[in-house]
Amino acid sequence: MNQEPLDLALRASHVLTMNASGRCLTPGFVGIRDGRIVSVEPYKQGMEAAWNPKRFLALDRHIVFPGLINAHTHLGMGFFRGIEDDLPLETWLKERVFPLEAALVTEELVYSASLLGMVQMLLSGTTTFVDMYYFEEAAARAAERLGVRAFLGPGVLDMPTPGVPDAETGLRRLEAFIESYSGHPRITPILAPHAPYTCSDRTLKALRALKERFGLRATIHVQETSGELQESLRRFGKTPLERLESLGFLDSNVLCAHMVWLGAGDREVLERARPGVAHCPNSNLKLGSGVCNVAELRDMGLLVGIGTDSVASNDSLDMVREMKTAALLQKALHADPSRMGAKETLGLATSEAAKALGMGDQLGSIEAFKRADLVAAEINTVRDFPCHDPYAHLVYTLTGSHVSTVILAGEVAVFDGRLVNDPTEEALDTWQETASRVGRELERLKKG
Ligand SMILES: [Zn+2]
Repeated sequence: MNQEPLDLALRASHVLTMNASGRCLTPGFVGIRDGRIVSVEPYKQGMEAAWNPKRFLALDRHIVFPGLINAHTHLGMGFFRGIEDDLPLETWLKERVFPLEAALVTEELVYSASLLGMVQMLLSGTTTFVDMYYFEEAAARAAERLGVRAFLGPGVLDMPTPGVPDAETGLRRLEAFIESYSGHPRITPILAPHAPYTCSDRTLKALRALKERFGLRATIHVQETSGELQESLRRFGKTPLERLESLGFLDSNVLCAHMVWLGAGDREVLERARPGVAHCPNSNLKLGSGVCNVAELRDMGLLVGIGTDSVASNDSLDMVREMKTAALLQKALHADPSRMGAKETLGLATSEAAKALGMGDQLGSIEAFKRADLVAAEINTVRDFPCHDPYAHLVYTLTGSHVSTVILAGEVAVFDGRLVNDPTEEALDTWQETASRVGRELERLKKG
């Protein structure tokens, strides 16, 4: 034995590394020290003794894959899960979401909802996420409580929003938020103008200046509905993408959520600016927004991640289920079953999303020197027997409920389907009380 002892090691029947060569180890061994992966190799008898880990996990009958990355969500909306179905986006947003938010959203509610969402994401295998909402300081506190990796963007709109009477105040608070979390090991502040249709040129220019000054990334909803595209052409004579480019806002540090509808000149804009894309298939389907042509965007060389969007329009934060929808949609859209295979889809939710967030050298695959964020899902139990292909099994058969173990920065965060550092007991009363309050306000709104 010549190696320094490992903090943690595991053996699993399948390790999907998602590295550049797409290697799958059957069985595989992963060794972890100081929060990073130090060894990934085919498992051989006696390895645990040779490496002498402080803790060893025998994950036989498990698929191990990199921690999933949810590229677009709004965790603060956690208590608005399924508030009302079957409404078009504009009615849903203006007559349900915005009034509910005006009446109910406080810093305390955002903390509770974010904590709840992070619990649900961790239990279903998501270790990193991109969030846009109000009171992101509260989301940051929840992220620190659970240790998840969070890209947090305080939402900026030109209209008054919870806690922010106008865009000027919003920008001032945003600057304070950026300063207080810059250099944080797991929380990354980002810019989050809500959408081109809710932000004036002036606001977008101010955000561009902040983006350059602090070297930040940004996320924004773009071209989610055809109505948005038409309205922008009417008001500005440009598509939202053309407008963002003309304001100097669009580049490879921007993650555009949705991108369902593209205008005539948008492909050239995308080829020049090369933004990342956060594809939200279930939210787009449920709101009847349309289908993002992910295959075309990827053929153009854009990096695409997968997001759940909020539970108000999904109604789940389960990235495993989201992957299945993403894969099936491209096959149907192109009438071609070879589009978006299972392995490629897992790549979107891991290595490609990491690259789109500028973290490709740190996250998104199981490789030596990367941060040790790994997930194990159980296979070959009677309910889902048999598993012939681990990629297809993960994407098409399993759901986030099959996740048994999550390793976050080298620590076991979920074991045997339970959170190790579980906040449920301390939060449950508040969660129940807040959900009831949301239910009452929703009834009041529906009565008009
Ligand atoms: Zn969204």
